Amino acid sequence: MTAEALADKFNAKGRKWPRRAVCPVHQRQGQRYPSLTLAIYADEDRSRLWCPAGCKADDILAAVGLTWKDTIYVQRERLAPEEYKAQRRKQELRAAKESLERQLGLVIMLRATEKGKQAYWAAAEKRIRHELFCVRWELEREKVEEEIMQLWDWKQAAINHGRKARTA
Ligand SMILES: [Zn+2]
Repeated sequence: MTAEALADKFNAKGRKWPRRAVCPVHQRQGQRYPSLTLAIYADEDRSRLWCPAGCKADDILAAVGLTWKDTIYVQRERLAPEEYKAQRRKQELRAAKESLERQLGLVIMLRATEKGKQAYWAAAEKRIRHELFCVRWELEREKVEEEIMQLWDWKQAAINHGRKARTA
């Protein structure tokens, strides 16, 4: 069960961790000595109980009908390391794509307005387009492939059109 549910079993109060509760082994309900209350910690993948009076976690759990197994979480949202890595990579790529698209828009605008530096901005645009292609190739390959196929079709259509125009 979650640390939250475990804390509820002990009628713990408050929202901060560690939650404080009356220790069912050495204290009686209603008896509250703040320095002697049970502390319930929400560790990374399990709850941890600590009693300042030295009661054993197993005894504390048994007092409310639980065992150590109830301190383990089953977190559905928890990802396997490879999944986590892949997700992080995707986030990085998405951020890179956004940044490159912004840069591209700026450079295209500068190329159009700064007449004296057109070659410079044209080179910058080429570099950004290349980087953007690489990022998108990893992030959304299917979409990029579709775009390439479309370009290919248009190019073929243009070539065919040219041939027809010449032979006509
Ligand atoms: Zn205790």
